Amino acid sequence: MADAPADTSAQPDASINHAAALEYWSSNPPTVNSMLGGHPQLSRIDLQSSANFLAKLRRSSRTHSPGKPLARAVDCGAGIGRVTLGFLAKVAEVVDLVEPVEKFTRELVAGQGRGLKAVGKIGEVFNLGLEEWMPADNTYDLIWNQWCLGHLTDVQLVEYFCRCKGALVRGGWIVVKENMSTDLEGRDVFDEVDNSVTRTDGKFRTLFKQCGLKIVATEVQRGFPKELYPVRVYALQPDG
Ligand code: SAH
Repeated sequence: MADAPADTSAQPDASINHAAALEYWSSNPPTVNSMLGGHPQLSRIDLQSSANFLAKLRRSSRTHSPGKPLARAVDCGAGIGRVTLGFLAKVAEVVDLVEPVEKFTRELVAGQGRGLKAVGKIGEVFNLGLEEWMPADNTYDLIWNQWCLGHLTDVQLVEYFCRCKGALVRGGWIVVKENMSTDLEGRDVFDEVDNSVTRTDGKFRTLFKQCGLKIVATEVQRGFPKELYPVRVYALQPDG
């Protein structure tokens, strides 16, 4: 029997299933290798580029100019806290984490992040998906989202961005650093392995706009192997 034709009207994000995604991630060991899908060597250059990107943002900021640490950042979809350890804890006084898989954050606070936890550098750890996380008002100078937003549907993502907007200190930034779909027809792509969606640059821009966020800086990650998805970073602030 021939396969049924693919339903081209269905949106890729309609296939997202949180339970399946959590099952996938829970079956992964708490290592940088699994956070980076088998490319641990990319972590250094990724973190260095992120630090440079933030430094550039701060140089043109009136409220967050370079010199003193940011008061509070949050690492969203943090996994084992690779970004917290390698970057955020160096630029912020306190870093909160949001991550649904508890064994990942446990690895951080009981392992490499133990010292940071003891001195209060690691603040609150929320073991929740971002679709469920309700940040308090005006708390963060930097809300960092990396390689995790594909686990939210478009609708969930817009709602989440709106909540993040309310949780930003004046002059702070929401940063999104994600793979970009290279689909020839310009569509988002569903990934069966980790149950996530890889979005196009255009889709991200549409979703940012839907909750009144404007892009204040964006760049493509340099130095990654050509065979991987391109990675783009955006810094967002409330529009007006
Ligand atoms: N941001 C980290 C981890 C990337 S791996 C880094 O760059 O190193 C992707 C992470 O997203 C995993 O830890 C996975 O558990 C988490 N994740 C899965 N579903 C999620 C959801 N609904 N909300 C937030 N994070 C989710």
